[in-house]
Amino acid sequence: MPSKSDPDNKPVAFDSHDHRRCVQTAAADVEAVCADQNLRLTPIRRRVLEILLEEHRALGAYDVLARLSAEGQPAHPPVAYRALEFLVNHGFAHKLERMNAFVACAQPGEDHRPVFLICSACNAVAEDAAAGVGAALGQAAGAVGFAIASTAIEAEGLCPGCRGNAAV
Ligand SMILES: [Zn+2]
Ligand SMILES: [Zn+2]
Ligand SMILES: [Zn+2]
Repeated sequence: MPSKSDPDNKPVAFDSHDHRRCVQTAAADVEAVCADQNLRLTPIRRRVLEILLEEHRALGAYDVLARLSAEGQPAHPPVAYRALEFLVNHGFAHKLERMNAFVACAQPGEDHRPVFLICSACNAVAEDAAAGVGAALGQAAGAVGFAIASTAIEAEGLCPGCRGNAAV
């Protein structure tokens, strides 16, 4: 059984942790969802997902392309864009509008309204479920008869590591 995210939904990105487990768990979750929904996780889509999963960090489409070509993949921009589009459309990755960059989803396959905490110094990104924020937004929208299709809540600032460096 692939384990789902922590029950207390703490973002792990800013803590030191066994990151190989994040990658394995997320890749297994995505595989399960793809099998379930008959989605084709082609080798290039899988590789782009893995590249995004390797760090809790936002990557631009060109960063992904650069990684693919460094690995000797025939990386034409449309190939990378289409793979990213697939991952975003199916909720396996999120697009960060503010940075025009991509980050792997921390809870693939789950319906959620994520909140992103983005470090402007090192580009580290934590995806927080922040259920209260989504509920508040849903209530505010409901009160004026508005149906939310998608939300992008992004906070920019300094992660604990970069705050520590700044203090030295
Ligand atoms: Zn990790
Ligand atoms: Zn997510
Ligand atoms: Zn940082």
